[in-house]
Amino acid sequence: MRILCLEQGDWMNPARYPSTGLDAELRQIGEFSSNPNVRGLATDYPVNNDASPIQIANFNGVGGGTVLYAAHFPRFHPSDFRVRSCDGVADDWPIDYATLEPFFAQNDRMMGVAGLAGDPAYPEHDLPLPPLPLGTSGETMARGFNRLGWHWWPSDSAIASRPYEGRDRCLNLGPCTSGCAQGAKASTDVTYWPEAIRRGVQLRTRCRVREITVDDDGMANGVVYYDADGQAHFQPAEVVVLAANGIGTPRILLNSRSKRFPNGLANNNDVVGRNLMLHPYSWVSGTFPQRLDGQFGASGCCIWSQEFYETDASRGFVRGYTMEIVRGRGPLVTALFGLGNGQIPWGEGFHDAFGKLFAHSTGMVNICEDLPEVHNRVTLDEALTDSDGIAAPKIHYTLSENSRRMLAHSVEKATEVLKAAGATSVQHEAPWKVAGWHNMGTARMGLDPATSVVNEWGRAHEVKNLFVIDGSIFTTSAGVNPTSTIQALALYIADAMKQRLANLFD
Ligand SMILES: Cc1cc2nc3c(=O)[nH]c(=O)nc-3n(C[C@H](O)[C@H](O)[C@H](O)COP(=O)(O)OP(=O)(O)OC[C@H]3O[C@@H](n4cnc5c(N)ncnc54)[C@H](O)[C@@H]3O)c2cc1C
Repeated sequence: MRILCLEQGDWMNPARYPSTGLDAELRQIGEFSSNPNVRGLATDYPVNNDASPIQIANFNGVGGGTVLYAAHFPRFHPSDFRVRSCDGVADDWPIDYATLEPFFAQNDRMMGVAGLAGDPAYPEHDLPLPPLPLGTSGETMARGFNRLGWHWWPSDSAIASRPYEGRDRCLNLGPCTSGCAQGAKASTDVTYWPEAIRRGVQLRTRCRVREITVDDDGMANGVVYYDADGQAHFQPAEVVVLAANGIGTPRILLNSRSKRFPNGLANNNDVVGRNLMLHPYSWVSGTFPQRLDGQFGASGCCIWSQEFYETDASRGFVRGYTMEIVRGRGPLVTALFGLGNGQIPWGEGFHDAFGKLFAHSTGMVNICEDLPEVHNRVTLDEALTDSDGIAAPKIHYTLSENSRRMLAHSVEKATEVLKAAGATSVQHEAPWKVAGWHNMGTARMGLDPATSVVNEWGRAHEVKNLFVIDGSIFTTSAGVNPTSTIQALALYIADAMKQRLANLFD
């Protein structure tokens, strides 16, 4: 196969990541912000978040969001593919955990996942690398979970705990979410891309796709893209595969209007862009009398708890959430948060209050399963555009009553375990406004062409040579970070295409 990938961003240079400099935290909230509207790079596109309590976060460059991600790497559970059967809500996926299992394992090897086999919350799976160190903050929290008798386990983390496949091991620098200068974090520019290029895949950067074009039979026949100088080009293709993120993919589809598809490509059923799921998060942090030094170590990878993962009707909501322990914060962010929420005063008393917070706080984020709702959606903004004049995505999103109850429960339980671990005070934010980094459901997978965009192997129902392999095809969102499952799905769909090559368009 001859494969060409068009990417709107650039290759990254890990030597320039903030973690190598003393101004790491400052750069992390500026040019390396996870919010594209704050970052505002030429390679970004703006997002209109005005109608959403959660702001979209992403990264646009080779490696996509994995350049900035925390590399917390849980798989979906078997029950996550059967939400309708288990709880009578949303829909079952047309595939199951067993279908994806070999691809989860292959992806764990490609990414180099660290963790400890035997987590009772999951089906048995081995991991290529031993777990990351828990650190004092992880051990302190684990004692809190033990006191309450709640589940916890070292997180599966896409971070090399030992040298792996040419990547060096994690040095505990801390700020994983502004890029890993050490190369220990498995972003796809350092895992998949070198291998793909060795095998002949062509990657063209600074190519921003405006639309996918169709022929008279309604088959995709290529894309129109802008190069770095803003020149438009047509790239013909026999098969088009979209992997532009749960926001970027519906944006391209909605922008690809033709006589055959007046509402956007593969959207004659009006499903593209709908059912947006974002994983409402609560962020809960506790202050401790002793030093925990959580500013060191992989910031989003430590231990997790799935005590409240599966449905328990007595809690007043269906489905559940993962508690993800997030160690601590650096000095600048500690000061900014403390000043923002009143824990640190300006002027007199600053140093004293700062000293009590910095290196003395740890906490967790709670990732709540979001259920698909047709009114939560991505549309095209009528005024806002990127630098090439392509309409920006507009987010329409409200929290459901189920999500509100789940968030409140997660704050209550997180407070309980932080106190059991010895916290003397606890702060929270729910929903966590900045945390729109899991973008799912906007080109959902299903067997019914009236209510879904792609079939059970990722092919668009309405366009037989168009495939989608990113988080937009999620039928439901689970209560875990999505990337392990996005990648397993991408491998599964690539494999399905290869198996069916002789009759791919039947
Ligand atoms: C700060 C942060 C922390 C995160 N932490 C975690 C975590 O711990 N665990 C986890 O599982 N997930 C995490 N995520 C989410 C994770 O990054 C995403 O799930 C994952 O990257 C999604 O992969 P994707 O391929 O679907 O989309 P992306 O990674 O967003 O890749 C899409 C690519 O398409 C390109 N593109 C889009 N539109 C166009 C266009 N029109 N033309 C050309 N190119 C285009 C973009 O430039 C981008 O490179 C985090 C994300 C962020 C931002």
